[in-house]
Amino acid sequence: MVKTIKYSQSLQQRAKEVIPLGVHSNFRYWGEGITPYVEKAKGSYLWDVDGNKYIDYRLAFGPVILGHAYEPVDAFVQNEMINGLLFAMTSELEIQVAEKIISLCPAVEMVRFACSGTEATMHALRLARAYTGREIIVKFEGMYHGFQDYTLFSTYAPVETYGNRNNPIPIPASSGIPKALHNLIITLSFNDFEVLEKTFDRMGYQIAAVIAEPCMGNCGCIEPEKGFLELIQEKCKKYGALFILDEVKTGFRIARGGAQEYYHLDPDLATYAKALGNGYPIAAIGGKKEIMNIIGHGVAQGGTYNNNKCGVAAAYATLDTLQTQPIMETIERRGNYLMKGIKQIFDDANIPAHMSGYPAMFSFSIGEKKPTNQREWNKNDRKLYLEIIEACIEQGVMPDPDPREPWFLCYSHSDEDMDETLNIFADVVKNVKNKAK
Ligand code: PMP
Repeated sequence: MVKTIKYSQSLQQRAKEVIPLGVHSNFRYWGEGITPYVEKAKGSYLWDVDGNKYIDYRLAFGPVILGHAYEPVDAFVQNEMINGLLFAMTSELEIQVAEKIISLCPAVEMVRFACSGTEATMHALRLARAYTGREIIVKFEGMYHGFQDYTLFSTYAPVETYGNRNNPIPIPASSGIPKALHNLIITLSFNDFEVLEKTFDRMGYQIAAVIAEPCMGNCGCIEPEKGFLELIQEKCKKYGALFILDEVKTGFRIARGGAQEYYHLDPDLATYAKALGNGYPIAAIGGKKEIMNIIGHGVAQGGTYNNNKCGVAAAYATLDTLQTQPIMETIERRGNYLMKGIKQIFDDANIPAHMSGYPAMFSFSIGEKKPTNQREWNKNDRKLYLEIIEACIEQGVMPDPDPREPWFLCYSHSDEDMDETLNIFADVVKNVKNKAK
């Protein structure tokens, strides 16, 4: 089967005239002549403008936890929207959503809303700096916390530029990031216990916060080694720095209460977006009362769209569904089946591959060693990864071609979707293997 993508190609030409790269986020550009343009999505499926149907494992980079155009959420949102969208005034529904987040996420005692993950991390960083009176932020190589300038360092630069692991060089991921911010960021290799300890020993009392995704959700879903997140937490506590857990990808996805429930963590602040609203625009900064309560007392946080009714209503309906139905259990069962199946296909083909992540959000890397940080991950066979994913997409199974990006599952994925995916995956791996001979 060779898919036609003629209409996508013509839209790309047209789009390039009016939108840089023809897309509204750099991450959505796959390349010249191959960037797909979407018509619609429903449940676990997505159709491009040429009418090709895919089992969708991108799920908009993770927000879609229940399914595309999920009727109970959409119906609730539509009903709420009849009574207006924005008021610059607080509604009872917002209080209910805040209460739901607090009841689900063990470390969260108060929340403020935002509209995107980027805003949530930006606000969390300001809050941490305001609370501690310090300026330095520690982040990990390969982790991504949105497009704000403060942490857009060492996300995906060639790792050769990162310097020695004992003294890493923060590499800005864009032109336009002020040089002054280099002085305020320390980038470390994930899962490096020794360097984390040394960094705190050396500079602990200057650090405002360590911001970390619980797993490398933007770099092959590399998991934390046992004790690493706990060490961050312990060091932060000891030195009076804040631990910001960026749960934009993991929140309401790897467990109802996100990674803080999954790993029994007690971060000072946590950031949410994505699955919180099943794709509608809503984000949240959550944290300890003592810290959150300085907002409004000399600490600024706000935004015209922060309580947009469609996001708030979607969050209400999504969280309600997560609380009352076996969403996580179902995704977990199907995701485990898919992960096991993929691993088996690689084993049968004698291709050394390692699964990482969680049933609701996973990745695989091809290489002898399972990577524990971005420096190691960089050594895996990304060419073969891309070859496999491109062939899957051609056959109607669509994970993201970027190997950093996990496969995401939603409640609307069916057992049949899992089997069809595995059949296609097995075919693809066989063909790739034969081609290599
Ligand atoms: N933090 C993490 C961990 C993310 O994965 C992302 C987006 N992929 C963000 C923050 C930024 O979120 P947004 O795209 O909603 O601004």
